[in-house]
Amino acid sequence: MSQASHPILLTPGPLTTSDRTRAAMLRDWGSWDSDFNQITARIRQQVLRIVHGEGTHECVPLQGSGTFSVEAAIGTVVPRGGHVLVPNNGAYCQRIARICKVLGRELTTIDYTEDRQVSAADVDRALAADPTITHVALVHCETGTGVLNPLREIALVVARHGRGLIVDAMSSFGALEIDARKTPFDAVVAASGKCLEGVPGMGFVIVRRSTLEKCEGNSHSLAMDLHDQWVYMGKTTQWRFTPPTHVVAALDEAITQYFEEGGLEARGGRYARNCDALISGLAALGFRTYLDAAIQAPIIVTFHAPDDPKYDFKTFYQEVKKRGYILYPGKLTQVETFRVGCMGHFGEAGIPGAVAAVAETLKAMGIRQVSAAALA
Ligand SMILES: *Cc1c(COP(=O)(O)O)cnc(C)c1O
Repeated sequence: MSQASHPILLTPGPLTTSDRTRAAMLRDWGSWDSDFNQITARIRQQVLRIVHGEGTHECVPLQGSGTFSVEAAIGTVVPRGGHVLVPNNGAYCQRIARICKVLGRELTTIDYTEDRQVSAADVDRALAADPTITHVALVHCETGTGVLNPLREIALVVARHGRGLIVDAMSSFGALEIDARKTPFDAVVAASGKCLEGVPGMGFVIVRRSTLEKCEGNSHSLAMDLHDQWVYMGKTTQWRFTPPTHVVAALDEAITQYFEEGGLEARGGRYARNCDALISGLAALGFRTYLDAAIQAPIIVTFHAPDDPKYDFKTFYQEVKKRGYILYPGKLTQVETFRVGCMGHFGEAGIPGAVAAVAETLKAMGIRQVSAAALA
């Protein structure tokens, strides 16, 4: 198969998976079967191992894309009379705010421009000013831009105020450190098809056990009730409702490879090398990153689009795709950008190959002026 017919996905999920992970989906499982339920149990244990949450936390898996698990976490952990503070510096923070509104949880936001990190001091002030806030919902890596938020600092502030913390760690889990022994949280949400390099289709929420025990009856929804899922799984070893069996089997295989590679340090290290190679490679072609290096997570990078009138994203995308790489559109309303992911199962040649594809694309499109700043 040529690379152009199976391009490398430089996207934040679904992402490029290994042959072994895809091969794990080539059989069918019965949801009652004890072999299958052992796979579920193993995934739950291994996920806890990644955050050092064994003994203190529970991993509750849930069918659906990542957002389903974020919504389930808010709905299950925040009581109906709860009040959620969302420090908002991007699209995924705004999604959490919308979830709170839809679920009828009281909402307060601290709004930032998208090129700024959330500040722990601002969260501290907001919690001090409003004792009715019961929970903070933080996005760890804001995938809309690629900005890394200071999770540990904020977690310590929230704990000091005695409030709850829910973390959307979708695009950081498994690559950037989250250590439950050092970073207090009530819930961390992630999914199969991101840094663990499984296929999309399920999420999981790591909940502090003492919190989860008190969550009965909070949820607005039957299918999204993590407390009910947890109790049922504890009693039966099974998922409530049909599990995404192939996705579960693929995630199990992906986690095996994750630990073979060397776990968090190795995965995060590989993405960081990808990120450095990407930023320096595209900088050599004149591209500028949207974020300052100091707040850039090694997960996904937003670049300013070329200033040249010959540029349009659709053609750029198609030309790069022809050469074997899938880019990602920008998510900003004010400035024209595109994004490139650093995550997924591709070798160290992946990023240099993508940079070469972009260079050829610029030539093919006749784009001379990548950035006005670079010419000046
Ligand atoms: C991917 C992602 C999600 C979930 O998105 P889905 O499309 O529902 O899988 C949520 N938050 C962040 C930060 C993400 O990167």
